[in-house]
Amino acid sequence: TLFLDRIERLNPDINAFVTVDHEKTLAMAAAADARIAAGTAGPLTGIPIAQKDIFCAEGWRTTCGSKMLADFVAPYDATVIEKMHRDAGLVSLGKTNMDEFAMGSSNETSFFGPVKNPWDRQRVPGGSSGGSAAAIAARLAPAATGTDTGGSIRQPAALCNLTGLKPTYGVVSRYGMIAYASSLDQGGPMGATAEDCALLLNTMAGFDARDSTSLERPAEDYTRSLEQPLAGLRIGLPKEFFAAGCDAGVMDAVQEAINEYRRLGATIVDVSLPNSHLSVPAYYVIAPAEASSNLSRFDGVRYGYRAPDYGNLDDMYMKTRAQGFGEEVKRRILIGAYVLSHGYYDAYYLQAQRIRRLIANDFVDAFKSCDVILGPTSPTTAFKLGEKSADPVQMYLSDIYTIAVNLAGLPGMALPCGFSGGLPVGLQLIGNYFDEARLLNVAHRYQ
Ligand code: GLN
Repeated sequence: TLFLDRIERLNPDINAFVTVDHEKTLAMAAAADARIAAGTAGPLTGIPIAQKDIFCAEGWRTTCGSKMLADFVAPYDATVIEKMHRDAGLVSLGKTNMDEFAMGSSNETSFFGPVKNPWDRQRVPGGSSGGSAAAIAARLAPAATGTDTGGSIRQPAALCNLTGLKPTYGVVSRYGMIAYASSLDQGGPMGATAEDCALLLNTMAGFDARDSTSLERPAEDYTRSLEQPLAGLRIGLPKEFFAAGCDAGVMDAVQEAINEYRRLGATIVDVSLPNSHLSVPAYYVIAPAEASSNLSRFDGVRYGYRAPDYGNLDDMYMKTRAQGFGEEVKRRILIGAYVLSHGYYDAYYLQAQRIRRLIANDFVDAFKSCDVILGPTSPTTAFKLGEKSADPVQMYLSDIYTIAVNLAGLPGMALPCGFSGGLPVGLQLIGNYFDEARLLNVAHRYQ
């Protein structure tokens, strides 16, 4: 009830949660207590957690930040929800605010209004997992889930002084996680520390037959190498991440972190990701293309919003989608439909897929000479509410350091590395495929 009380008091201002349900939370807490008393508890039984409102949770309103799903109560649990609550015994504090259908980098596209950054309430918490980040930063929850299609775990973690991990694509099941761009979407943990993230990932990861891109691999204990010394570790600095385009204050903090890693025994090597400047343009073809297909299901027929007045069936589709989706979502659907259309497919979509392969190959080459890659997470600290919302391209550039990781399917982490102008700066660590345990180790030793 400590957290529920804080949510009651502080959430009206921060707007991190869109749904809380004391009765459900208290019932889950009672069930956790019973497990503890019976001796059947796991390491996280009874620990409270905030769930991004993109994960379907049975009996809970699940909105994905959209008017389209504002009254949608999920009839089943996402795999992540099932694993965390039913299996591990974590207690849900509620569902957190997010950019509409996870499209955004500031949490300003949410139908439920923007979220304020607890470090400076004039500023954005980042997005799209902005509600999860603000909830942890304001101590409304000790940890949360997020999803990361193009930086949505790492960028809000960076802007709110948290640790967040985007796993290798396929490690965490996407079943029941409302789809944005299916070939990029990946759920992951957000918390104060790498240790928290490791414990949470232990509960989230694992093969799931209900997700066709879930990977069949033996279970891992992600805490196993947290304490390993860093002597001999090779950290690669991509020269493209240290060129122009990043605020000086952010760069200073990142340089400080590099010095600290040297003191911890790591070797710093230069690497190159020559195609990284193409990651944002390629992403903004591929992600909208997949989104335009995924979001076609919101037609007012089976679930979600339906326009109250309409003539025939076509009219119902049109009015429902015109009224139910926000501006940014409509922009993405239009872009996506355009790049997939006959005559433009080869020029845009196919080209973007080729770039995606080049970007992935860049990482394969870079990992021949280093174990992890290090750089900034976001080119700036938290920006002012409204500052970039009128300029989509500026907003899209918030993700210049994060998006390549999704295109390649690699694991990436953000972790706090000091402050610039009183605002948190996030360091980014990128690992090779399935190297989450090492990333967590490298983050933990620094923390
Ligand atoms: N900011 C990016 C976008 O708007 C990434 C969002 C995400 O990772 N869900 O698409």
